[in-house]
Amino acid sequence: MLTNDQLSQWDRENFFHPSTHLAQHARGETATRVITTGQGCHIEDRDGTKLLDAFAGLYCVNVGYGRTEIADAIAAQAKELAYYHAYVGHGTEASITLSKMILDRAPAHMSKVYFGLSGSDANETNIKLIWYYNNILGRPEKKKIISRWRGYHGSGLMTGSLTGLELFHKKFDLPLAQVIHTEAPYYFRRPDLAMSEEAFSAYCAAELEQLIEREGADTIAAFIGEPVLGTGGIVPPPKGYWEAIQPILEKHDILLVADEVVTGFGRLGTMFGSDHYGLKPDLITIAKGLTSAYAPLSGSIVGDKMWKVLEQGTDENGPIGHGWTYSAHPIGAAAGVANLKLIDDMNLVANAGETGAHFRKAMTDALGDHAKVGDIRGEGMLCAVELVDDKDNRTFFDPSQKVGAQIASALLSKGVIARAMPQGDILGFAPPLCLTPAEAEEVATKTGEAVRDVL
Ligand code: PLP
Repeated sequence: MLTNDQLSQWDRENFFHPSTHLAQHARGETATRVITTGQGCHIEDRDGTKLLDAFAGLYCVNVGYGRTEIADAIAAQAKELAYYHAYVGHGTEASITLSKMILDRAPAHMSKVYFGLSGSDANETNIKLIWYYNNILGRPEKKKIISRWRGYHGSGLMTGSLTGLELFHKKFDLPLAQVIHTEAPYYFRRPDLAMSEEAFSAYCAAELEQLIEREGADTIAAFIGEPVLGTGGIVPPPKGYWEAIQPILEKHDILLVADEVVTGFGRLGTMFGSDHYGLKPDLITIAKGLTSAYAPLSGSIVGDKMWKVLEQGTDENGPIGHGWTYSAHPIGAAAGVANLKLIDDMNLVANAGETGAHFRKAMTDALGDHAKVGDIRGEGMLCAVELVDDKDNRTFFDPSQKVGAQIASALLSKGVIARAMPQGDILGFAPPLCLTPAEAEEVATKTGEAVRDVL
């Protein structure tokens, strides 16, 4: 058996980790952590340290770790048929069944599912389909995509551009020219403290409309947004936000992409975030919770309106020139079928709503009166604790202080994983949807202790 030192050395010599400070890791300033097993909401590393994972990996292990129902389905599929492609009408029982299971759960006007591997490639697919759609409709100028500052839509060339976070653009020559960003619906950091939530929603809507008018509606194809901003800080929209945004998009004939990579399959206490906020998207992006990350699989769910035009396009132009080798990979599809069944059997959508509310209440009890906790917010099984230097005057910490990372590290030493969100001062929580009330209380109590240890 390899020693930890040997693995750590090989890691530093060979492994290029994503989203990592490469030089620090090479110097040994960040640890190599080898995770070995997981069960329910817990994972264990090679040293036998057991951790309560209150971020479900990267908000993806929604059914929890160690579910043999999914592992068995993957093994059975791999033994029976590990791979065949999905081009030109090919499929497996699993991929065909999964497409039906997804549409049975999706909003009624959604029509078909295109399968990919990751949230990023599903969003790349969405943008290509949107451009194709407008070309078929004879409006080649209508191509720009609006996303929000603080939105996260992936790390590809287009999706990294759509992402509205500086870290993902810096030194990569992003964003690409076809992408424009608008105001984030981030009520806690509203420009004028006197604004009500409704007034701030109207302000965001007015900003959007001005942007559309400035650019020209005939140049704008689509608006993409997460129902609740995720990586940008776990920010539920202010009251009335989506109600104010959607009519503007309709008025200017702009498609709506609901990026539900995080919110799809139950995280908000409803099957989709679109159900939760009354969205009527033209495309829905799914990934993470589709298989609870037991195998890589994503999807673009296409609405009726676009589907008709795509069909027309292929009658005019021949087969659609868009395909991945691993589209609808049988093993991913088998994992998806077993995972969606388990979500139903374990009643996880309801649990996300109920235990999620209990979790935020426990967090508020533990920290609501702390002088440096500015905001505790969330929806369903999502929660954020935003730290401020001075609550009364709403002054913020200097990002170089890395307050969020310090608290996340203090919390880790107490056996709980939270995520210091990329902007610095926000601790994010997105536990598996099977979190129990007792586990929720444990996370909240330990977070309270960790915040008090650091601040
Ligand atoms: N969209 C959203 C809302 C996400 O949160 C993510 C990843 O966190 C993505 C897209 C990209 O997914 P992936 O990392 O699988 O490419």
